[in-house]
Amino acid sequence: MAPNIRERTYIMVKPDGVDRGLVGDIIARFERRGFKLIAAKLASPGKEHLEKHYADLMGKPFFPGMIQYMLSGPVFAMVWEGLDAVKTGRVMLGATNPLESGPGTIRGDYALAVGRNICHGSDSVENAEKEIALWFPEGVLQYTRSQESKVFEI
Ligand code: GDP
Ligand code: MG
Repeated sequence: MAPNIRERTYIMVKPDGVDRGLVGDIIARFERRGFKLIAAKLASPGKEHLEKHYADLMGKPFFPGMIQYMLSGPVFAMVWEGLDAVKTGRVMLGATNPLESGPGTIRGDYALAVGRNICHGSDSVENAEKEIALWFPEGVLQYTRSQESKVFEI
């Protein structure tokens, strides 16, 4: 199958990342890598919305504390498009536990605690599409960048 240069992933700066002023840095990392920003907004989701987003983790012992953390301030929600966006996005974020994240990753550069790990990234193409629909019911944008052929072999 031809590589999908239009793969999309949902990336979110969590409340600790917004509070610590890391939104610009995180945007810059994805921009520099060559990904295309197709949606972005600052949002204050409610408990129900966050429970939908993290539905697969309901029942875990850390779940209530994690929802409290996610409710502690606004988040910055984004959709990035590009080659292997889901997997590459996760690599750029680093491991779930920042102590296991290498330097050069977002969590490896800025975080120490698993419950304060700065950012979220979709873990599969299927979940990315679900998360994009949940966070951006208004839809995302489509546009062509002038330097597309400098980023992709097209
Ligand atoms: P992610 O996809 O790398 O974000 O990891 P998961 O989907 O497994 O977990 C979602 C989020 O829940 C993580 O990013 C952490 O913020 C939090 N989390 C996961 N595991 C733990 C844990 O063992 N303890 C605490 N306090 N939080 C956790
Ligand atoms: Mg996850």
